[in-house]
Amino acid sequence: MTSLAGSVAVVTGGAGGIGRATALAFARADARVLLVDRDEDALAAAAEVVAGAGGEVATQVADVTRSEDVQGYVAAALERFDRIDAFFNNAGIEGPVAPLAEYPEDGFDEVIAVNLRGVFLGLRHVLPVMLRQGSGAIVNTGSLASERGLQSTGAYVASKHAVLGLTRTAAAEVGGAGVRVNAVLPGMIDTRMLRSLVGSLSGGDVDEGVRAVGKVAPQARPGRPEEVAEVVCFLCSDSASFVNGVGWPVDGGALAAMGNA
Ligand code: NDP
Repeated sequence: MTSLAGSVAVVTGGAGGIGRATALAFARADARVLLVDRDEDALAAAAEVVAGAGGEVATQVADVTRSEDVQGYVAAALERFDRIDAFFNNAGIEGPVAPLAEYPEDGFDEVIAVNLRGVFLGLRHVLPVMLRQGSGAIVNTGSLASERGLQSTGAYVASKHAVLGLTRTAAAEVGGAGVRVNAVLPGMIDTRMLRSLVGSLSGGDVDEGVRAVGKVAPQARPGRPEEVAEVVCFLCSDSASFVNGVGWPVDGGALAAMGNA
């Protein structure tokens, strides 16, 4: 198991499927964790799960699209734990499901605000902390949609392509200063988000739909949030000390099977 003993980790979208599983994995790797999300009750429930595993955990309500909230969670981490060693820049939304010719303009703006501006603001305000420390590791959450076009989710696909662009830019800028920046590219992972997308795209039995979309991967099943969490922990650990600027698929082979972009 990866060790992050003595480290401080910040997780956005920490009340959601992948964020909560990753916070738990960070805690099991002996990191102290600040969970960030926009819903106070959901955050408290997630924190209880992490604390139940023996982890030291704090929470901060924040909307990642708002600079003052992002500065607020950075300040909360420093006030409580004095440093940030690992940052999982993960909050995201799927947005509307519609072809581009019909895509709602306000829905486009909302997806870009959360998935792109939110990730940018996280980098903008966490990187200075890590640069001062001379150390740190960041993982941004991309997607299969960072590498491929998918029908009826144009804003999501555009935002996740951009997350990979920010990841590569950040890695190029801070690699010489002891800070690594990577992205994780989850495939079909069984969380609220995938269930919502499957419901919107196909209707019908969502359990069956989730099983069906899992078959896009050679491993022929949807992934579990815990399977993403383990990779994020690895990327944030010293075991990944020479891994920088990559988009690391956790997709059961889906990208390989979907062919080259
Ligand atoms: P969830 O919906 O379970 O988790 C996302 C979390 O982010 C939720 O708790 C959500 O809160 C929170 N969030 C949304 N907007 C904001 C905001 N403005 N400020 C703060 N928090 C916010 O989905 P996942 O765990 O599946 O998604 C996590 C990440 O993984 C996302 O970036 C997603 O795009 C990515 N991903 C997921 C895949 C999948 O198959 N599940 C595949 C590829 C990538 P709320 O519930 O209130 O909206």
